[in-house]
Amino acid sequence: MSLTVPVLRVPRTLPVLMCHSVPATGGPSGDLQVPLGELREQLRVLRDDGYTVTGLTEALDLGLREPGPRVVALTFDDGYADFLAVAELLADLGCGATLYVPTAHVGGQGMVRDAGRLLTWSELEDLAAAGVELGSHSHRHRPLDVLPAGEFRVQVDTSRAELYERLGVVARSFCYPHGYPVRRAAEVLGAAGYTNACVIGRRIAGPGDDVFAVPRLQLRPGLGAAGLRALISRGEPGVVPRLKRVAAPGWRVVRGLSLRVTGHELT
Ligand SMILES: [Zn+2]
Repeated sequence: MSLTVPVLRVPRTLPVLMCHSVPATGGPSGDLQVPLGELREQLRVLRDDGYTVTGLTEALDLGLREPGPRVVALTFDDGYADFLAVAELLADLGCGATLYVPTAHVGGQGMVRDAGRLLTWSELEDLAAAGVELGSHSHRHRPLDVLPAGEFRVQVDTSRAELYERLGVVARSFCYPHGYPVRRAAEVLGAAGYTNACVIGRRIAGPGDDVFAVPRLQLRPGLGAAGLRALISRGEPGVVPRLKRVAAPGWRVVRGLSLRVTGHELT
């Protein structure tokens, strides 16, 4: 039986920021790390400019209101242990965020080099109690678009069940590992109980965007206040080479072949 799900759209223009690791000390070792001090300054800029900063699900809900507040959504991928200090910062500044958890890797080693371990279930429980939105980053953090048919559904269902059974969290938001969206994802995600999902995208989300493929903007180290304001008003300048490959159907075919022939997951 085929399930038909109406395509739901992002209600209004919505900058969605993507972060990974936030080291409390020392400099970043790559552009997927933003030092805690910089994040503090960036959140202050947004707050002083009159933005409500919150998780993706709440941001989409706020976008349905008329008149709505100025909103920026804030998201963190993978669940690095350094998010514990971010949670304190969010509480201090009255901000919210969505944290995407790959449930098979909880308490294990992170995906970003030099970013340290991932949060434990006990720490995630505390964060959920503190009001952080916990979303699914799949179960095993594999690129879902090249996996065998049916595996996407397993990854979607397993991670959601783990979050509920271990934490009592009903996950509404999903984040595709490595940013690769999946065709007809809305049917699977909607049936599982999710109401939104995000990709990398590197542009500002807006009316017309599928809520199950919300694009995000990468928050990079060294951006500064002017860079942040430009990012949320104009989007990312240019597209990095890797994202050009992501966008190319040929690259997806190469990754699919690599997985089937050698078992190696190119990302
Ligand atoms: Zn990830």
